[in-house]
Amino acid sequence: MAGLNTRVDTGYNARVESFRDEEYPMLDGSIYLDHAGTTLYPKSLMDRFAKEMTANLFGNPHSASASSQLSTARIEDIRLRVLRFFSADPAEFDLVFVANTTAGIKLVADALRAGPDGFDYAYHQASHTSLVGVREEARNSLCLDDRLVDQWQKGDSPLGDDSGDRPILFAYPAQSNMDGHRYPLRWAEELRRGRKKTFTLLDAAALVCSSPLDLSQPETAPDFTVLSFYKIFGFPDLGALIVRREAEEALRPRRYFGGGTVDMVVCLKEQWHAAKTQFLHERLEDGTLPIHSIIVLDAAMDVHEQLFGSMRDVAAHTSFLSRRLYRGLKSLRHGNGEPVCVLYSQDSDSTDNRLGTGPVIAFNVRNSLGAWVSLTEVEKLAALKRFHIRTGGVCNPGGIASALGLEPWEMMQNFSSGFRCGTENDIIAGKPTGVIRASLGAMSTISDVDSFVNFVAEFYRDAAPTPILTNPVPLPHGQSWLQVHSISIYPIKSCGRFEVPSGVDWEVRPEGLAWDREWCLVHQGTGQALSQKRHPKMALIRPFIDFKKGELRIRYAGHIAAHAPRQITIPLSKNPSLFRSATPLSRSSRVCGEDIQAQTYALPEVNKFFSDILGVPCVLARFPPGGQGKSTRHSKAHLQKHQLSPPPTTKPALPGSFPPSPPDSDTGRASRRILLSNESPILAITLPSVDALNKQIKLAKPTSTEISPAVFRANIIIAPSVVDTRLLPYAEDSWSALRIGQHGYEMLGACRRCHMVCINQETAEKSEEPFVTLSKTRRFDGTVFFGVHMAYSGSQGVGSLTRERQFATVRVGDVVVPEWRVE
Ligand SMILES: *Cc1c(COP(=O)(O)O)cnc(C)c1O
Repeated sequence: MAGLNTRVDTGYNARVESFRDEEYPMLDGSIYLDHAGTTLYPKSLMDRFAKEMTANLFGNPHSASASSQLSTARIEDIRLRVLRFFSADPAEFDLVFVANTTAGIKLVADALRAGPDGFDYAYHQASHTSLVGVREEARNSLCLDDRLVDQWQKGDSPLGDDSGDRPILFAYPAQSNMDGHRYPLRWAEELRRGRKKTFTLLDAAALVCSSPLDLSQPETAPDFTVLSFYKIFGFPDLGALIVRREAEEALRPRRYFGGGTVDMVVCLKEQWHAAKTQFLHERLEDGTLPIHSIIVLDAAMDVHEQLFGSMRDVAAHTSFLSRRLYRGLKSLRHGNGEPVCVLYSQDSDSTDNRLGTGPVIAFNVRNSLGAWVSLTEVEKLAALKRFHIRTGGVCNPGGIASALGLEPWEMMQNFSSGFRCGTENDIIAGKPTGVIRASLGAMSTISDVDSFVNFVAEFYRDAAPTPILTNPVPLPHGQSWLQVHSISIYPIKSCGRFEVPSGVDWEVRPEGLAWDREWCLVHQGTGQALSQKRHPKMALIRPFIDFKKGELRIRYAGHIAAHAPRQITIPLSKNPSLFRSATPLSRSSRVCGEDIQAQTYALPEVNKFFSDILGVPCVLARFPPGGQGKSTRHSKAHLQKHQLSPPPTTKPALPGSFPPSPPDSDTGRASRRILLSNESPILAITLPSVDALNKQIKLAKPTSTEISPAVFRANIIIAPSVVDTRLLPYAEDSWSALRIGQHGYEMLGACRRCHMVCINQETAEKSEEPFVTLSKTRRFDGTVFFGVHMAYSGSQGVGSLTRERQFATVRVGDVVVPEWRVE
């Protein structure tokens, strides 16, 4: 099969090579791999255009002059020729000239919207942005994946049956402009057979670049087909809307009329007009047609055929090249055997895609350690090496999201943390935000493909095998293995915890663990953040993060009024419509005595839920990462004096009366960002310290119950990995740094404690322990300390960028290796 293709294609390839330099002088040695964007125009077409324009006088149609008649006649001939190009019978189809694909889509949307009930809209996930935008004109809209389209064909309409006579428009691409995936033309017919009046809009813009489009079967053809000619021929800048005559009625409600589309217009005292009735295109082509563009289309079709043969030939050539590119990129391996490219397009020989795949390869590049290479970096280097490729979101939001596994909340998250189409920061939270796209056309050649594969290999393949990191086996200070015993986050400040399930890699950011203290409840009157110290019931407000559904579910575990809801959900995404006020200066809130700018939710039922539970008028507010000014906070933790003494024995030496160490901002150390936690990004405790504390409590009062580690509201609990290994209680006071898994953490100082540790996190009841015992055993300079603050400080062990460093995570069971402060 591959051999056959090679044989068939080399002749064709040689032909293209023979005329390419002459026909495309503008390339000047660079390599064009952006045919899904625009195809290049050959020189002989430009020559023909110039000749035709200078030899003939083409006037504005609609008049009787010879020049006008010449234009009209030529345009009508070309209209028929274009229909023939797509095997469409003029008795069954009409062709409307439009500026481009997008204009064709808008014309359809505009007409359907004007109908008595408007229209409902369903669009396929792989749709181009220009199709997605139609949803804003529809009464109801829905984005469908293959599975939902399949269900629909089986009679299960995705938009329900309660919309009366309102028509449904279903839009999809014949070929995805993102990854070349093709979708069946037969969908149109299958959906028409359904109960409801359903029209199909086929976006053929990407398909027709390099493949024939066959509309010879009007029964199965889409009702509306849109395309852009510049993508096939390079020139003219013109598009078409091809309408199946049976569906013409759907466009009739269009209200606007312009010059050329009416037979008579009455103004002044009466307002009346008569639309042209004979041909649909007469009613839809407003104003003067792009005469010269339409006329050059004739030449464009001639020249294209002379150079490249039929569209069938072009399809064979481009799919041969595309397979070569696919396999070339796929086979690139780093020295350690890891693949260089992650491909999102399918191999067009893969058995599950009988339609084949368009000559479009979407991919991303990784280094040998699995870290993603920035798209902008690839694009810049490619530009320097004179490759024309496209990177980023490529105007295909749904396709990108499904290829990269981005959930809507992540996309909105990326947006609110500053990501925009075309910005440089394109790897966020360890995921790329777009793709690299190389697309081939009729004038592409084997050497284009090979040069590009060689380029990727030359710049992105790490030849030498990189050292594999192994877990260290350290035994500092006679200690044995330590490990992460549990991980907790507190999505809503002062409320219950969410325990990270074992086996889950949880993201660590400079501000702390992902989703920790991102929300808070603020008092409606004072703007003060509410705290468990004043409102112990907050311990019973239990959040649960559901990434699948993209929501934060909040359940109240305490007593609740008869008809009140026990649970509410809010989206994880920072959809701006959820928040209050469009005023630029939303009111300040106060957290730990600090003025901050948080966004408050404008969801009455959510705010009522919390207000009813706590008996205080309050609102939910969010303080997302990445803010500026009052929307940022900084860590206040610092080393405490008792930590500077030698590692504590049984009874810590109480130091003299030093003033407390100055905060970070005074010492000139780079200050660390935090969200709504009190003092620092991450709080850690060790189980041996909790055990020691419990022993002391029991010693003082044998009847007392054991306190749970949960009262300390730590993020990370560290414990020896085997029961019989020793870890001195309060050893954490003497740590200067930690390595957890492959990541480094800096210790920022001991954590000051207040009465809040006396609230049982299960029941919200208050007692006097452990604070009483802590005051006796862990007080230094009048302040009680338990646990340590820390912050992520980067990955360790290797100098180069690893997958781990690009996306730092922590999981239960990770090995913990402390570094000890040397005196
Ligand atoms: C290029 C393209 C469009 C948009 O075409 P315009 O000419 O910019 O209007 C729409 N859909 C697909 C699949 C495309 O490839």
